[in-house]
Amino acid sequence: MSTNNTKTVERLADPSRRRFFRGRVKTKHELRLPWVINEAVFTSGCTQCQDCISSCESNIIVKDEDGFPKIDFSLGECTFCNKCIESCEQPLFSGVFTEENTLKNKKAWPVTLEISDKCLAKNNIYCQSCRDECETSVIKFNYLNSSIPQPSLNDLDCTQCGACIKSCPQDAIAFNFDQTTV
Ligand code: SF4
Ligand code: SF4
Ligand code: SF4
Repeated sequence: MSTNNTKTVERLADPSRRRFFRGRVKTKHELRLPWVINEAVFTSGCTQCQDCISSCESNIIVKDEDGFPKIDFSLGECTFCNKCIESCEQPLFSGVFTEENTLKNKKAWPVTLEISDKCLAKNNIYCQSCRDECETSVIKFNYLNSSIPQPSLNDLDCTQCGACIKSCPQDAIAFNFDQTTV
């Protein structure tokens, strides 16, 4: 193989370059590891070593279609044990270890939890499974004008653990990316 060809093969071994050469543009946002700086920093710096995947005590980190790790809350909740972050040798996170005070005030992901119209209670069928899973009592039920108690969220108190997502029999709960997220 010529020197030029060898260099090309070496460059394409870089995951972010492979994606570029395939001409693929991601339109779907993925939930990466908690507190990553942003998607661009993550996908350009992540080597796809998979150390974070094997380190997760909840087994909720999986590979996306391009081989990058993402969180799948349908598999369970995030305990914020930080093992994924500690296992990563790349500078993908924003001051997690050095700026503890900043971290406490910063959301792990730029997302908001929402309950869709697929919710059983919203369709007048009794269900409160999500409330029973939420340790911080973020999800409350009130009758409002319905004969069945209706769920409401106090997003400010949500820890983003995702425990309620797996509990929902209707797959009605999801984290949606904030509008300002690029
Ligand atoms: S440990 Fe870091 S570099 Fe390795 S796959 Fe996870 S995020 Fe990427
Ligand atoms: S678990 Fe799902 S279906 Fe049941 S009340 Fe909560 S959001 Fe609605
Ligand atoms: S993601 Fe938020 S609402 Fe859902 S269980 Fe965790 S703290 Fe409660």
